[in-house]
Amino acid sequence: MNFSDIIGQETVVSGLKNIIENKTVGHAYIFIGPEGVGKKMTASIFVNTLMCEEATSKPCGTCSGCKKIETGNHPDVYIVEGDSSTIGVEEIRNLKKDIYIKPYEAERKIYIIQEAQKLTEQAQNTLLKVLEEPPKYGTIILISTNAGVFLDTILSRALVITFRPHPYDIIERYLSINYPELKEELPFIAGFSGGIIGKAKEIAVSLEYSEMRRAITKSLMSLLSNNELDVLNTIENFEKYKSMTDSVFEFLLLWVRDVIFIKGLKSTDMIINIDMIDKVKDFSKNVTTKSIYKIAKHIIDTKRKVDQYANFNLAVEAMLINSWEEVHGNYSGYKV
Ligand SMILES: [Zn+2]
Repeated sequence: MNFSDIIGQETVVSGLKNIIENKTVGHAYIFIGPEGVGKKMTASIFVNTLMCEEATSKPCGTCSGCKKIETGNHPDVYIVEGDSSTIGVEEIRNLKKDIYIKPYEAERKIYIIQEAQKLTEQAQNTLLKVLEEPPKYGTIILISTNAGVFLDTILSRALVITFRPHPYDIIERYLSINYPELKEELPFIAGFSGGIIGKAKEIAVSLEYSEMRRAITKSLMSLLSNNELDVLNTIENFEKYKSMTDSVFEFLLLWVRDVIFIKGLKSTDMIINIDMIDKVKDFSKNVTTKSIYKIAKHIIDTKRKVDQYANFNLAVEAMLINSWEEVHGNYSGYKV
């Protein structure tokens, strides 16, 4: 892989290429941006380019440096990881001990600190000591979702590189090239990803997600039926996708959001479930604005109950009955 494989992020890529071409590699970089936006991939291409013996602006893929990077065992590249919640001072003390030992093979030694937002304050203070007197061959790359967690003294000694979510059209183009089988669902996925390529990919490969979406849409449409039993009969859709409850509720709220937009703006520009626009329109014609807001509240309340380990089926059943009654104008407040 090389820099041309990175989608979007032109500013980041041209900045890093300049650093390599001008041989102005620094001692500390902080890659900041949301999860799934391409920070790790970019870091690994940057590192690979720096470790390539050909020393051009892209890895040759065949030299001993590139081969070792590819198999993940370059002796001068270290990945620093902590446990699930923190990266403690011990890990950084190990880095500190190691970085002052000269590189084994390459001209440089590189440390990548993954999920650097987990660095404790004590660990950051130890890291600061290294950044105050770094060996000339040492480079540390911190990868983080959040810049707010770092000490100012760390930030002032590092070059902060910010990764932004991609514009909609870049995600759409990426999906249409890489997942040509997605046709009518493509605009939805592009919109839902919020510009995060990792999230778009995740949804695109998740057939289960699209099946869940279709099933839950059936439940939503059954709210329009005059027979209350029709909606209760769809509870099995919720049971079936119980393992992805967060996604189910997120989708329900997206639906509600779309209905509110259609009712308020009378335009489809902002609609996320664009591949289901006919159903969204049909739904919005049959509910009042007041009742759709109340349905939103039932959904949010139910999600909270489910998160607090309420009986799943009873909670969803109450949500469906209460929502049905909101649509049909005879809400009586069915409780679990
Ligand atoms: Zn190479």
